[in-house]
Amino acid sequence: MSDALHDRPNDCIVIGGGYAGMSAALQLLRARRRVAVVDAGQRRNRFASHSHGFLGQDGADPAEIARIARAQLSAYPTLTWIEGEAVEASGAPDAFRVTLASGEVLHGRRLLLATGVADALPQVPGLEARWGRSVFHCPYCHGYELDLGPVGVIATGPMSLHQAQMLPDWGPTTLLTDAALTLDAAARRDLAARGVAVEETPVAGLEDEATVVLSDGRRLAFAGLFVATRSAPASPLPAALGCDMVETPLGRMLRTDEGKRTSRAGVFACGDLAHTPRSVALAVGDGAWAGAQAHRSLLFPEG
Ligand code: FAD
Ligand code: MG
Repeated sequence: MSDALHDRPNDCIVIGGGYAGMSAALQLLRARRRVAVVDAGQRRNRFASHSHGFLGQDGADPAEIARIARAQLSAYPTLTWIEGEAVEASGAPDAFRVTLASGEVLHGRRLLLATGVADALPQVPGLEARWGRSVFHCPYCHGYELDLGPVGVIATGPMSLHQAQMLPDWGPTTLLTDAALTLDAAARRDLAARGVAVEETPVAGLEDEATVVLSDGRRLAFAGLFVATRSAPASPLPAALGCDMVETPLGRMLRTDEGKRTSRAGVFACGDLAHTPRSVALAVGDGAWAGAQAHRSLLFPEG
């Protein structure tokens, strides 16, 4: 890639072209700024065939939402889209360098990180294959489609109690503590008052659509299962850049201020990587704000 467009520095390099990164890029492109988006195409919801809760796209294929967004971005002449992985980033405001797995080097005045998070799934046989299909983490995303059928929560830790307390709005709920969660008397009373059943026999595995096989051989069939996953940044790059992290009940993420600035000057972050709660709608909103903030930092570098 040695065309003239490529040799000039970008106003902003967006690392991660999922929903947040594309939304940020859109704002900068609409300000006629030169934007390079580097994207490895591994969006967090790639395991699900339907995305819910995003206004105007409720029930759409998540890949189709991304395809339409990318086609719209491509109409802007100052976009360079690079399919691939960014493996290293360094530099300072007005002089950042990003190295791609291909060995290619990009230059940019600002960096915007939107590399998302990855979920750590519990080691339950059969669970990973059902992730996003009949095992979910977010009831707002996938609860409605279970048609008020029975739902199970496979506990991963304290957040699973909260999940079990919420789920009765989506169907009769069983909390499977699976040795990951110990319930005190107050928690048991609260669950009972909400009509949540508690099953303390360990989980041996999953079969069929969403049937839990217990270690004593019993089988409990559910319309769907929920697990509160812990997540961590999907890419090592934000930590390698030295950006400060914060611990949340959902796992580690990047610390940003109200202007979506990280602790490193000239580096912005948005989406799941730098925001909770998390959804496509919230990633798009967070990205739109981060893109505008990165633009303003070019206009008002002292601000
Ligand atoms: P992502 O969409 O994860 O995009 C990050 C992008 O960055 C990826 O393309 C990745 O490949 C790229 N990337 C990472 N590192 C690098 C690198 N070093 N170089 C280049 N590129 C890189 N939300 C909803 O609103 N509705 C739903 O129905 C829904 N269903 C879900 C189902 C499942 C199973 C899961 C796990 C999540 C679901 N979500 C849903 C949540 C949703 O997926 C996230 O909130 C959303 O994807 C966050 O967008 P993002 O742009 O921050 O990150
Ligand atoms: Mg993104």
